[in-house]
Amino acid sequence: MKSRHFIISWWLVFFWSCSPAEPPKTKTNRDTPNFIIIFTDDLGYGDLGCFGNPTIKTPHLDLLAAEGQKWTQFYVADPVCTPSRAGLLTGRYPFRNGMTSSARVVLFPDSKGGLPTSEITIAEVLKQKDYATAAIGKWHLGHLPEFLPDQQGFDYYFGIPYSNDMDFVQGSPNYRQESKDPNFLANTQHYNVPLIENGKTVERPANQNTITRRYAEKSIDFIRNNQDKPFFLYLAHNLPHIPLFASADFVGTSKRGIYGDVLQEIDAGVGRIIQTLKDLDIDDQTVVLFTSDNGPWLSFRTHGGSAGPLRAGKGTNFEGGQRVPTIFWGPGYVKPSVIDDMGSTLDIINTFAKMAGIEPPNDRRMDGYDLSPLLLNGEGPSPRNEFFYWNRGELHAARLGKWKIHIKQREPVNYGREVVLEYPELYDLETDISEKYNWAAEYPKRIEELLELCNKHQADMSDALPDNLAARIGE
Ligand code: MG
Repeated sequence: MKSRHFIISWWLVFFWSCSPAEPPKTKTNRDTPNFIIIFTDDLGYGDLGCFGNPTIKTPHLDLLAAEGQKWTQFYVADPVCTPSRAGLLTGRYPFRNGMTSSARVVLFPDSKGGLPTSEITIAEVLKQKDYATAAIGKWHLGHLPEFLPDQQGFDYYFGIPYSNDMDFVQGSPNYRQESKDPNFLANTQHYNVPLIENGKTVERPANQNTITRRYAEKSIDFIRNNQDKPFFLYLAHNLPHIPLFASADFVGTSKRGIYGDVLQEIDAGVGRIIQTLKDLDIDDQTVVLFTSDNGPWLSFRTHGGSAGPLRAGKGTNFEGGQRVPTIFWGPGYVKPSVIDDMGSTLDIINTFAKMAGIEPPNDRRMDGYDLSPLLLNGEGPSPRNEFFYWNRGELHAARLGKWKIHIKQREPVNYGREVVLEYPELYDLETDISEKYNWAAEYPKRIEELLELCNKHQADMSDALPDNLAARIGE
């Protein structure tokens, strides 16, 4: 009797866990929401009005935060461009797929590698339900034909395939020097970056003065053309990564200098995209995520962003490098709230899959959680209680609950005001968001617990691609 009971309850658990997620429906939402990710480059935690910035005006993003959810503890998978993007699109720490390495910090125009096509992206998951998919903007996961977005589940691509400061024309002004002037305007001819549309170079050098506006316009075209079916739009702006460029209509509009002008143009584009959704009456069938790929590039002074109260910025594993300003909006799905629980771009593939009634990849180790209950209900607890901070192929820090341990640090090169730590260091992120007060000496048990967590996590990386492939970013 006892064993029959056990078998029946086991089967119940089995069927329950296999049934696809059923998102609660409002009057207008449907089983397959549209998804839009707006991913900015090097935008800091303190750069938006709704995250406390007093001199940059971001009214459209502020409205999204008020009508949707502002997430205050949201992390990117890595503090630099290439691995951060790999983490977002695959839901896996980039060490697993070779997109972080000690050899080179990111992919460059002479790199031969890219995100392996054996990786499963958000676009490929959503293709299971026949989503129309587009990548618009910066790709930075391999610019050779075998690595472009059409190899990773995207029907359409328009954008600069890597960072906007690459293909630097020798003899052009040194931006690091010139950016001491907050209003210095770079010349778009000095960066010979290609603009690619569906595999063909359509402009070189790309006219970066108008690139932010054109990315928004291409996004609007894609939304209009696919308004009758579910779609996934991945809009990854090249800016506000240096060199900074803005359309003539926006230059000089912000008290914050050219960096503020750039953000105000990005914000205006967000406003136009939201207005398009409203005009087409699909706003309540759509979920929008706005966030950044990593923290601000502080060594470019006022041409870089601000991490607000957080320590350091891009390239570091301090909070300023990996905690990013994040907004979810979707009037048919997202309950207005401020979420102070942890989340990560690593969680997006699972979250969107669940919301679309698709099982996320189960043939490989995934590092994400399903955040959809928080989006739908407006409250925690988040299933994410830990986070691991990687840097160029090495684990440097870990967080469990409110405690964060730093176990390692790279030489501070080009990224601004880091100092060398004494290892390990322990911070309480609830009472000390700025990582100022080290508790390592007072809490040896906590250190032990966190070191064990780090060891377990590194052991769990045994599925990572072999060394020769893990270094492909450096090829
Ligand atoms: Mg970046």
